[in-house]
Amino acid sequence: MIKVNQLQKRFGQAHILRGIDCEIRAREVVCVIGPSGSGKSTFLRCLNGLEEVSDGDIFIEGVKLNDPKVNLNALRAELGMVFQRFNLFPHMTVLENLIMAPMQVKKLSRREAVLVAEKLLQKVGLLDKIDAFPNQLSGGQQQRVAIARALAMEPKVMLFDEPTSALDPELVGEVLTVMKQLAEEGMTMVVVTHEMGFAREVSDRVLFIDQGVIMEEGPPQQVLGDPHHERTRDFLRKVL
Ligand code: ADP
Ligand code: MG
Repeated sequence: MIKVNQLQKRFGQAHILRGIDCEIRAREVVCVIGPSGSGKSTFLRCLNGLEEVSDGDIFIEGVKLNDPKVNLNALRAELGMVFQRFNLFPHMTVLENLIMAPMQVKKLSRREAVLVAEKLLQKVGLLDKIDAFPNQLSGGQQQRVAIARALAMEPKVMLFDEPTSALDPELVGEVLTVMKQLAEEGMTMVVVTHEMGFAREVSDRVLFIDQGVIMEEGPPQQVLGDPHHERTRDFLRKVL
């Protein structure tokens, strides 16, 4: 589904991603862990074309993302993204948040888009909030709406960048439950997270990124339970 070859990203003099190689298969759930500032968000942003890559290649289902000829908007529609801060449009209701992109980008009729939105709100347990505005919802509810909004575009891959880091602890579980359900339905997911329980329980593979490279990767039991690298052990000691 995704293939990354020797991905490099520089911001001016700062060399942030320094040769990332990885492959993500369809239906795979990959958790990305690593210290703050190691390049996790930059990696996700490169994957959906929000950042231009400095060197190396990214292929999404065989289509090269960093090719000037590629239709970036069409490709981006295949990758849903959920950020740490729920970036719902504050002046729109939940329904309007969900139907806007499907109508504008996928050219669904309003009626079709509303049907999709209702189905997805049902799935994340928020159908009763369809006419609410974001500021009338808890952080956990907003994040579940953000997930539903991303799903409304029928992406092939969902990218999550610390989706629960900004939430009060008691609201983390409801968001992880929705993510777990998605994983069980076979969604391909790349999840940057500090939730080691989720990584252990739900992911097929964990990548430990440190200083812009994948320092270690493997099944969660191995990377989290019996890490090979001292730097991974060091990181896990700090977060567990
Ligand atoms: P992480 O998500 O692992 O905490 P980031 O990918 O956000 O790390 O950031 C990695 C490094 O890249 C940081 O040092 C950050 O300051 C730098 N960085 C990220 N985005 C930019 C940018 N747009 N311009 C300059 N530096 C950036
Ligand atoms: Mg980050």
